[in-house]
Amino acid sequence: MTVPQVNNTPNDLAARDVAVIGGGIIGICTAYYLHKAGKSVVVIDKDEIGKACSFGNAGYITPSHFIPLAAPGMIQKGLKWMLNPQSPFYVRPSLNIDFLKWLISFAKKCTQQHTLANQQAILDINLKSLELYQVLHQQAEFNFEFHQQGLLMLCKTQQGLNDEAKTVAAANKLGLQAKMLTPQALRKLEPNIQLDVMGASFYPEDAHIAPYEFILAMKNYLVAQGVEFRENTEITGFSTDTSKSTITAAATASGDIKALDFVLANGAWSPKLAKQLGLNLPVQSGKGICVSFDKPPVKEGAKLECRTPFILSEAKVAVSPLDNSIRFGGTMELGVLSSQEPVDISPNRIKGLIKSAARYLPDLDTAQVKSEEFWSGFRPCSPDGLPIIGKAPQLANLTIATGHAMMGLSLGPITGKLVSEIINKQKTSLDLTPFSPQRFG
Ligand SMILES: Cc1cc2nc3c(=O)[nH]c(=O)nc-3n(C[C@H](O)[C@H](O)[C@H](O)COP(=O)(O)OP(=O)(O)OC[C@H]3O[C@@H](n4cnc5c(N)ncnc54)[C@H](O)[C@@H]3O)c2cc1C
Repeated sequence: MTVPQVNNTPNDLAARDVAVIGGGIIGICTAYYLHKAGKSVVVIDKDEIGKACSFGNAGYITPSHFIPLAAPGMIQKGLKWMLNPQSPFYVRPSLNIDFLKWLISFAKKCTQQHTLANQQAILDINLKSLELYQVLHQQAEFNFEFHQQGLLMLCKTQQGLNDEAKTVAAANKLGLQAKMLTPQALRKLEPNIQLDVMGASFYPEDAHIAPYEFILAMKNYLVAQGVEFRENTEITGFSTDTSKSTITAAATASGDIKALDFVLANGAWSPKLAKQLGLNLPVQSGKGICVSFDKPPVKEGAKLECRTPFILSEAKVAVSPLDNSIRFGGTMELGVLSSQEPVDISPNRIKGLIKSAARYLPDLDTAQVKSEEFWSGFRPCSPDGLPIIGKAPQLANLTIATGHAMMGLSLGPITGKLVSEIINKQKTSLDLTPFSPQRFG
């Protein structure tokens, strides 16, 4: 589908201060904080702004997700899940060398030591982003739904409860509020939903939003402020100065886009462009799926009404109650993002997601769920489970902001603020060492 470009300014204008490549949650938030800091900004996207991974995700803002994706037990769980075509996790076989290297790095990071070394940093960056969402929500120029109702991790098994109890203890130790709830306490919290579970953990500080609504609110604000957006414009390469230490322009089919600084915020597609600049950016795509319903798909006479979003812990399915819809999402299919982009969604993954949701939600009417209504997105996954935010090695005017995997929506505002601070040579709001692109050499 061709969509008219916004502010389609000719390429040959004088250089802007900053060109942001990628208009997902990371790119749009980056544009916002750079604009606020007085920079002239152009946001360039190969498609429409906000229509890739940032579009239909679960919308969670997640201090609760302080354990990196590369965590102890992931390899064993992953291998077990690989044998079941309806499982929430799958690795698409490939002999692609970058992908194999990524898998090896990921496996090496699945240790207790890695988790302990990074959980405080992941918690802190999530909490800072939550604060920024709260500030944005209070501003008159933005109109988006924001709910701070917490997050429930619902468990069907004793093993699940034991695992959640350990995470709750770790959360409390880090200073994050969290507690275990009995089925009775759950019923008190959410009386209008029938849950077949043994209990849950509860993170009251978590919040959730409707992701695309937020991006649109930001885009409309930025357009009104004169920020330039170039949609349907793919960056295909770069020009550098003779010493190859500074980017001078980004190439598009309709000519070069000049800027003083560049930000690589193109999500799962970022390693391809990074490679052209001689950079090793180990990001692989983790495909996930979601489906939204205007009315919850329940059996006749039943209700599925709740205010608190929840994750079906063992099944890894997220359920987000939004103002006008309820959204179910999950699955992680790791694989190489080919130029054909596998937009087809495996019927097995859909079946697996819905079947497992019905085990926790007995009133769910699975017959009402239509496969063709599912959406998919490609999470940009780093091998150590931490986002990649910071100055690129060797290139003086390139900042990288990607690799947010399952937390990109949550970390959008803080990433944008950090990038703005980096480009403006200010002290950053957080220590960026754990997130530095330099960690990959
Ligand atoms: C099922 C599912 C549920 C999720 N739930 C949550 C959640 O609850 N909370 C959370 O925090 N995160 C969640 N996520 C993860 C979150 O969606 C991602 O981390 C986030 O959207 C990544 O944002 P991004 O801006 O980096 O990438 P994208 O949103 O993918 O944006 C990248 C943009 O770059 C553009 N682009 C690519 N290449 C080029 C190029 N060469 N030139 C120009 N433009 C280019 C693309 O068109 C795209 O618009 C979920 C993801 C999935 C799949």
